[in-house]
Amino acid sequence: MAQQEELFRKIISHSKEYGFVFPSSEIYDGLGAVYDYGQNGAELKNNIKRYWWDSMTLLNENVAGIDSAIFMHPTVWKASGHVDAFNDPLIDNKDSKKRYRADVLIEEHLAKYDSKTEKEIEKAAKRFGDSFDEQKFCETNPRVIENQAKRQALHTRFAKALNGNDLEELRQIIIDEEIVCPVSGTRNWTEVRQFNLMFSTEIGSTSDGAMKIYLRPETAQGIFVNFLNVQKSGRMKIPFGIAQTGKAFRNEIVARQFIFRMREFEQMEMQFFVRPGEELKWFEHWKQTRMRWHKALGLGDKKYRFHDHDKLAHYANAATDIEFEMPFGFKEIEGIHSRTDFDLSSHEKYSGKKIQYFDPEQNQSYTPYVIETSIGLDRMFLSILAGSYTEETLEGGDVRTVLKIPPALAPVKIAILPLVKKDGLPEKAREIMDRLKFNCHCQYDEKDSIGKRYRRQDAIGTPYCITIDHDTLTDSAVTIRFRDTMSQERVTVSALEEIIADKLSMKNLLKQIKNQ
Ligand code: ATP
Repeated sequence: MAQQEELFRKIISHSKEYGFVFPSSEIYDGLGAVYDYGQNGAELKNNIKRYWWDSMTLLNENVAGIDSAIFMHPTVWKASGHVDAFNDPLIDNKDSKKRYRADVLIEEHLAKYDSKTEKEIEKAAKRFGDSFDEQKFCETNPRVIENQAKRQALHTRFAKALNGNDLEELRQIIIDEEIVCPVSGTRNWTEVRQFNLMFSTEIGSTSDGAMKIYLRPETAQGIFVNFLNVQKSGRMKIPFGIAQTGKAFRNEIVARQFIFRMREFEQMEMQFFVRPGEELKWFEHWKQTRMRWHKALGLGDKKYRFHDHDKLAHYANAATDIEFEMPFGFKEIEGIHSRTDFDLSSHEKYSGKKIQYFDPEQNQSYTPYVIETSIGLDRMFLSILAGSYTEETLEGGDVRTVLKIPPALAPVKIAILPLVKKDGLPEKAREIMDRLKFNCHCQYDEKDSIGKRYRRQDAIGTPYCITIDHDTLTDSAVTIRFRDTMSQERVTVSALEEIIADKLSMKNLLKQIKNQ
């Protein structure tokens, strides 16, 4: 655990040192849970966004992309339920004065039961070696059985309290389970209260009657209110989807864990409109499709898992999360929800406008049902950083820190490095750069020894370094060095483009989704 915390600390400082993520307004000591993306972070973020956008809009001819405004009519948030119900149950520890989400405290406590079981399994697997039968062990070992029974009972109690919005019961669970504040170590808790997460501001000047509006807490509502606009102008036929990326804002109570939980963040959401009754089939389809999208990145299939929701929103009839193994445990990076016709029906009611679809095949009108895929761009970014950060001890004892970012997403794709700063090598290097820069993001670097330059590129995840030496002037060949293996190959300049284009292309990454 301590090792994982240490790793997470390293990732955070690495992100800052190498221009990925900076605390917002740092010269004024920062602003809680708000971050800026630096020169490499912005490139990586844009590449992730493009991977998502292309996978939605290029690979699905029935998914259209839009870009709706952050400000929306305030009634949107009444209709969506956010004004009345976008709350988190919060609890304070009276000794440390720290505030927590009651549900998160209990979820983390549940995870402790799981890790206890996992430890028992690990121990037994070591003891029994090849003959170990995990299923049989779990069904017969008294400690595992008892632990799992306790977990199950707690889980049932927790789900009931959450679904019934029973704040007293949530507090009672925290007391009964003897959950302590991680800071003070005490159990001196306040009551549990509800806290609305939306930020509000005013539009117009106060003299002419300002209107209170909200910063959108999700991008999805911009899609729902444009359902008819897109359907009609695009002559879309059900089933079809609308995708968009954009900023969302939540006044999060517990703002820890770096860019995992921010107050200003970015979402990539797609609402897929289907015939009523067909939603569970499409829910399954998108669940699998989205998991393939994640796994295609090659960070390791075991790092992902589904987690079905304990608490279904009142309008949802199925919901699951895709979780990634962060240094602080498996955490949600994407939610997939079957939202029934709740949003469209609600907007129809509040706006007084008919929001229905005429299905020519069925010769009738209906309110479509919706499957939503909703992923946080920043959490996705963090999963890539965490999944690619590697420290390798080299021969001779040196440690190399390398970000093994999927090449198509890497902020800088190719580093162009003249061996020395003279003898016409910089000019030759520039000539090669001028040729390659139309294909992808290249970086020219002539400062310091070649070894130091390689390390700098490793640290930002550059998949290829190209070295120009004296021979290049006569044989038109360069040395290409591969980030992950550090192996080197001598190739002609004319062959370069072909060698790297394959690995760097977004097109090939998109093709991987189908192969998962
Ligand atoms: P959580 O339970 O962690 O608060 P959520 O279930 O409320 O998340 P959704 O409303 O389903 O999240 O939002 C969809 C996605 O948006 C999440 O899977 C996550 O990736 C991202 N997201 C939500 N809140 C934040 C945040 N405060 N900072 C960064 N990303 C976020």
